[in-house]
Amino acid sequence: MVLVEDAEGRAGGGVILRSFGLVFFKMKVLLAEDERKIASFIRKGLEAEGFAVDVAENGSEAYELATGRPYDAILLDIMLPGRDGLSILRQLRSRGMSVPVILVTARGELNERLEGLNLGADDYLVKPFFIEELVARLHAVIRRSEGRPTSVLGVADLSIDLVTREVTRGGERIELTRREFALLEYLARSPGRVLTRIQICEQVWEYDFDPGTNLVDVYIQRLRRKIDDGHEPKLIETVRGVGYRLRADSRD
Ligand code: CA
Repeated sequence: MVLVEDAEGRAGGGVILRSFGLVFFKMKVLLAEDERKIASFIRKGLEAEGFAVDVAENGSEAYELATGRPYDAILLDIMLPGRDGLSILRQLRSRGMSVPVILVTARGELNERLEGLNLGADDYLVKPFFIEELVARLHAVIRRSEGRPTSVLGVADLSIDLVTREVTRGGERIELTRREFALLEYLARSPGRVLTRIQICEQVWEYDFDPGTNLVDVYIQRLRRKIDDGHEPKLIETVRGVGYRLRADSRD
């Protein structure tokens, strides 16, 4: 057992490994922790177990990452420079983001813990804690969140907020027309799945597909310019002779 602790009782975050048949995806966790040594210690511990971890060292960076990239869970230190954990949590929830959040608090911060739970935190850990306990709690909050309706779809660094209709790539806002948004949403609801022009047309335009039209192709090109130009990896893929798909997130 490895105890995570420092003089002021601070600690960090982690991730998870989940299996679908024989394929293993890394669960991705954002660790917001300003104590470098602790952050690095926790990150290494979790990566050794196959988790993918992004570390944010201050509140603004944590908020930027949390809203710009898809995470399976966020481990949020309450006392962060720049912007505190509770303010970040409040804003994530007010945007409709339901990503599981575990708050990390120091002993004695009872009011903050209660406020955090009221703001929609899924759990909290009091420093010092064991890595093993952190991993178990991450598993639990992620498992519980799986049936939860999500309002934010994400693939790679693309994020689509279905409530505010805000789309960002790499944290930068992208303006889409109503139809472009509907097309992107349809693709993003089934990443990795090939959708035919007929399916797309019926779903996005709500009328029967006219084989003579290149409407779908035209809109795909527009969407590509906005979503993929200047970014890697390219997310909108053409499957020749069949249709289009949004690249599945490799989660690493
Ligand atoms: Ca801290």
